[in-house]
Amino acid sequence: MKPHEIRLESAARDVGRASESSVGETWTIQRVILWTSDYFKKKGIDSPRLTAELLLAHALSCDRVRLYTDFDRPLNKDELAAFRSLVERKGAGEPVHYLLGRREFFGRSFKVDARVLVPRPETELVAEAALEKLGPDSDQPILELCTGSGCLGLTLVAERPSARLVAVDLSAAALDVARENAAALGLVPRVELLEGDLFAPVAGRTFTLLVANPPYVATGVIPTLKPEVQREPQLALDGGADGLAVLRRIVLGAPSALVSGGWLVLEIGEGQGAAVLDLFAQAGLSEGSIRQDLARLERIALARRP
Ligand code: GLN
Repeated sequence: MKPHEIRLESAARDVGRASESSVGETWTIQRVILWTSDYFKKKGIDSPRLTAELLLAHALSCDRVRLYTDFDRPLNKDELAAFRSLVERKGAGEPVHYLLGRREFFGRSFKVDARVLVPRPETELVAEAALEKLGPDSDQPILELCTGSGCLGLTLVAERPSARLVAVDLSAAALDVARENAAALGLVPRVELLEGDLFAPVAGRTFTLLVANPPYVATGVIPTLKPEVQREPQLALDGGADGLAVLRRIVLGAPSALVSGGWLVLEIGEGQGAAVLDLFAQAGLSEGSIRQDLARLERIALARRP
């Protein structure tokens, strides 16, 4: 056995269980991917092969294409150990993007970890709707509530080079992540990050656009979500008994935080459209509408201060 090669007997102990038939073979990239995909599949993990490849590329500090060009390369002991630890954590239910430490959103890479919700593809549609309301040359101040990693608000200011963002979160830990993302994207001069409860830190100020992806999952539903989602901050998910507790406060507070003609653009949960339209009416907002995401679920709610 070459020193840089790990035989299956020891590797199997390292990685977990392994099929008896392949005892004695070397852990090449190809074999590691096959074994891990199979293991993830048995564990009921979504996209098992993709997950295996993403984690392996991360452990080897290379991109996924490289795995295919180096299919027959054996892993050395350190690489295997690094990968094993990622496989164990994934097997125990950690979201893959926490393990990778990053998530793409609207064409940019954001740092993510257990302090923040992992950016979702459907939230990109919220960003798109907000950009539509901002117009191409906006230099207007934007307010984002429940900013988390900052992916939504930071995308808006990255896309509109004259715009400014005030981003609020109740979690100081989440704001630390947003701050790192703002810095990595070169947006610090145009971004103000404030800790506090919804509108409290911006009392008396008005904005042209208010965006939020607030917690909107009903408390009772949270235990039924996938284990990966349950590893995400409860604060970012839990919308109270009917899921609308935070949305309600945002909608009812929006008129005082928006200029006349300013837009409110929210992410909402499936089935919440009618209730949110009611809230818009209660708040005296006009032009209320609901858009669906690519899965045809109600996901985006828009309204305007008259
Ligand atoms: N869309 C998230 C989910 O998949 C919920 C995010 C939120 O509550 N804002 O559970």
